[in-house]
Amino acid sequence: MGLLTLGSPLSWKDTKKFADHVRKHGTQQLINIYRRLKDRHGDVLKWGDEVEYMLVVMDADNKTARLSLKGNEVLEILERREKESPSDYPATWRPEYGGFIVEGSPVRPYGHLMEHLNMVEANMRLRREEILSVLDQERGETVITFTAFPRVGCPGSTDPEVECNPTVNTASHSLFFPDAAINHHPRFRTLTRNIRERRGEKVCINTPVFKDINTPKPFRDTFPNDDIEASWHAKDDHIYMDHMAFGMGCPCIQCTFQACDLGEALRLYDQLTPLCPIFLALSAAAPVYRGYLVDTECRFNIIAQSVDCRTREERGLEPLKNDRFVIPKSRYDSIDCYLTPEAEKYNDIDLILDQDICQQLQDAGMDRPLARHFAHLFIRDPISLFSETIHQNDEQETDHFENIQSTNWQSMRFKPPPPNSTIGWRVEFRPMEAQLTDFENAAYVVFIVLLTRVILTYNLNFLIPISKVDENMQEAQKRDAVRQGLFWFSECLPVFKKPNADWFYSEYNDGCFEQEEDKEYTKMTINEIINGQAGGFQGLVSLMNSYLETVDIDVDTRCSVQQYLMLIQKRASGELMTTARWIRAFVQNHPKYKSDSVVSEEIAYDLTKVADEITKGVRACPELFGTPRTRTKVSLSSVGQKKLRKESSDKADIDVLI
Ligand code: GLU
Ligand code: MG
Repeated sequence: MGLLTLGSPLSWKDTKKFADHVRKHGTQQLINIYRRLKDRHGDVLKWGDEVEYMLVVMDADNKTARLSLKGNEVLEILERREKESPSDYPATWRPEYGGFIVEGSPVRPYGHLMEHLNMVEANMRLRREEILSVLDQERGETVITFTAFPRVGCPGSTDPEVECNPTVNTASHSLFFPDAAINHHPRFRTLTRNIRERRGEKVCINTPVFKDINTPKPFRDTFPNDDIEASWHAKDDHIYMDHMAFGMGCPCIQCTFQACDLGEALRLYDQLTPLCPIFLALSAAAPVYRGYLVDTECRFNIIAQSVDCRTREERGLEPLKNDRFVIPKSRYDSIDCYLTPEAEKYNDIDLILDQDICQQLQDAGMDRPLARHFAHLFIRDPISLFSETIHQNDEQETDHFENIQSTNWQSMRFKPPPPNSTIGWRVEFRPMEAQLTDFENAAYVVFIVLLTRVILTYNLNFLIPISKVDENMQEAQKRDAVRQGLFWFSECLPVFKKPNADWFYSEYNDGCFEQEEDKEYTKMTINEIINGQAGGFQGLVSLMNSYLETVDIDVDTRCSVQQYLMLIQKRASGELMTTARWIRAFVQNHPKYKSDSVVSEEIAYDLTKVADEITKGVRACPELFGTPRTRTKVSLSSVGQKKLRKESSDKADIDVLI
């Protein structure tokens, strides 16, 4: 979840005092990186995924499932193991917001070989086993990649049970979720407190309740001690929540790609943007919050509200007096502008930005759209600052830039190279929700990685006005959006002019089609976007299959990739259920469910138990993902290794030549 500086966090008042300092030096640090590295080129595809894992304890005797607050302890052991076996350890670990979450990635990024796609699932499996190996499984402790824990914020929903009321919850003032269940890294508690203090009141999350036949109409939530603030903020027919953890405690899957240069990174960022809502809907996995079925299916708007630090002035509720801008969105939300000059005409929403910073960036040579993007991120204050890192060497350090960058949690992230490293320009795809199994998580990640190759190779253009992407983001979160939603999408068949990359040693005939200019866009179903329209758009998977026919791919990888594509295709067509639809159906079909939207402890326990069995492969779940059998592998074959060795020696020859 971004910058993990250790040290002594400043109070909100002191952080605010340094806000201009952080912005000023952050801008300078960005300019220094940009000047030094804008022409960096020739980087190869490297990519990786991040999965956030939820720790849960199940008690079969009492039929309860609780969030295990062992996150810090587990992380410590895993980090030690990683350190002690530096050469052959498969994963790298990071803390996440919830004290019940650990985040894991492959220890080294994957590369450009097709075979790398076949390692994702095996690595995810190893990571999960690794976490499981330090849990007390006899006691019922397990790892579940739920996006939202069904009874998050219900009384007694953590293990150990901790006191929870606005008085002990000094950071959040929450009624429902205990601050003691926040990860112990100082960043997270500080963010919680500072977001509340900056906003001037605690965060306020409302998501519509799912209205079942016995759900009271209107549905009116009740609160401990008749809390006045809660009754004030809670809306009728909504579930009300008041802690950052309701959002940031939701696991997701993210992938980051290194592009060959700045230009390619910008293009990838732009082209992946219209796909964010599509993959948010396809990965929807969060239909239950605080023990109720809700009428939305994704975490996205909930996180946006959970970290919304805008003041009343910034939210447009009071005239601007102390603040500089009215800001339409939370610092967690979908992006507000494309970055390439060609895409500028699609930037049709009013971009709030810091004009001075924008000017400085443009004076430093940055193209207008990119300068505007960063100047937009810099309208935010830093919301956590450590006394040890206030004064920095802007030539060498980038903490102030990263501070602002990493607390703009947007659907996409554009990442400049870190100083003094071998890492290039990168782009992160961030909207997808965590799925229960490693197979599914791998399928979504591999799909996106392959799609980036197809976009670059065939020069595809998915751009639509950014306001339409925003509309799609809202559409994506509605109940059953995959089957019922309509999404703005590029209407014309995206066609290719000329292959422009030699990824995966592709060899295919020179371009056969001409790229059409001034493309139209129209509303499509997710099924049409993924699987194609009769007589219209051919569908993403068909494009991907054409691409796969042109590349050098081993049988095992092809077999796995086929099953990943199939999962996405069948989810898109509705033949397989999304995780959200499956969870909703599980609750609605549970014998103890009273058709009143309530997900009781017992229902949540049964759901968790079944989810755990599915994850571990001891229970089939054909309605969710069929019966896949991939041929995923932990490491590259000898052929793959040889290829990599040959390339690096070829590269060494080239280095010598230049
Ligand atoms: N869990 C957050 C999400 O679902 C992301 C936190 C992070 O930036 O890693 O978007
Ligand atoms: Mg994370």
